[in-house]
Order: sequence, then C-alpha cells, then structure tokens
Amino acid sequence: MDDFRDKLRANLDVVEKRITNACARAGRKRSEVTLVAVTKTITPGIAALLPELGVLDLGENRPQELWRKAAILPNNVHWHLIGHLQRNKVEKTLPLVHLIHSIDNARLLRSLEQEDRSTDVLLEVNVSGESSKQGFAPTEVMQLVPILRELKQVHIRGLMTMAPLQNAEACRPTFAGLRHLRDRLREQGLTAIEHLSMGMSNDFEVAIEEGATFVRLGSVLFEGVS
Ligand SMILES: *Cc1c(COP(=O)(O)O)cnc(C)c1O
Repeated sequence: MDDFRDKLRANLDVVEKRITNACARAGRKRSEVTLVAVTKTITPGIAALLPELGVLDLGENRPQELWRKAAILPNNVHWHLIGHLQRNKVEKTLPLVHLIHSIDNARLLRSLEQEDRSTDVLLEVNVSGESSKQGFAPTEVMQLVPILRELKQVHIRGLMTMAPLQNAEACRPTFAGLRHLRDRLREQGLTAIEHLSMGMSNDFEVAIEEGATFVRLGSVLFEGVS
C-alpha cells in the first residue's frame, strides 16, 4: 500500500502542475477548477488513499459502484455521479451524491423534481453529435429552457460533455461549444448555470483553456497504481 501511495502522490503532483500551468495559460485562477478523481477502475482500498492525499472529490460512472465505495470511504468525500442514472436508482443515490454530472433526459429531470430533497445537477450535452454518446443535443437544451425555469427541487448548476476520442486539440471545438451553450443559457436568465464539467485524461488541459470548472480524471492518476 505504501508503494501505491507514493506512486499516487507522484501522479497527483504531475497532474496538479499540469492543471496549474493550463490555468496560467488561460489567465484563470487554479481555484476555479476542481479535480474530480474518477475511481471506476480502482478498488475501494486504493480509492481510500485519495482523501488521505487531499483529494476529496471522487467520481463514479455507475450508481451501484458509487454506493459500494461511499459505504466504505470516509464521509468527507464529495461523490460525483458522472454516468447514466436509471430512475429506479434515484432514491438510493441522491443522499450520497454531491453533484450529478450526467442528467441526460427530461424524464429523469422530472423524477428528481418529484423527490423530497433538493439536488444539484449538470445537464449532459452531446456537443459533438456522435450517435454513440448520451446527452441532450444543444438545440434540445435550448428548448428545455421554459421547463428549467420552473424547477424548484433540481438546481441546474452547469453542463457536462464528453469529447470525441481524438487528440486533445481536436476536442477544443467541443469544449468551446459547451461554453457557448452555457453562455446562451445564462443570457436567458438561467444564471445558476455556471459550471462546465469537461476534460478527461487525454484532453483536460485544452478543456481548462476553454473554461472547464470540473475535470474528470482517471487513467492519468492511476497509471502504475493498480
Ligand atoms: C472514465 C470516465 C472519465 C475518466 O476517464 P480517463 O480517460 O480515465 O481520465 C471521465 N468521465 C467519464 C464520464 C468517465 O466515464
């Protein structure tokens, strides 16, 4: 475990420098970007090293795995759900999550609105238009504006996207597209929509240059750790 801890600490140092440099290039403050460590490929035992090393924002793409790890890890962890949430898993998931990044359909939004608690969420947007990707088309999001305005229990805090699996520079238009969509929603008076969850191991620096406030990183953190 000590070897794993040292390797993880070294990886975190490298990632931290890369985030800091990307912020500097973009004239942004480091504090504007939150690193979400995506723990889907690692065991709960290794994931538990993260809060010890000061990383308190952890992400899982499957609700069941989030439940499993949340039951084991300390409760100062902020859990981020970054994958599809089935409506039959809403009740069990909501008390555990800090932020759901992956609201990808209007029925799910309605289910969350009916729950007896308030929930912070991001809308997942398929900016690149690939048929394999989940999420709303940008035009669908604009059509949802009247519905978004009426929500009471669901707080839409921003947007999330997955870039195409290409080199980082090729992802830049996708990230810029998400930022433009956010700005259009804000012009419509939806000023609570501020966050942009975008950027993974292959492309997070470009995402930060384009305005990411959450980067979701897995493989770059856990290379050599598991
Ligand atoms: C797995 C995953 C990530 C992390 O991907 P890496 O390329 O390993 O950094 C980010 N976002 C989502 C939605 C994921 O499923």
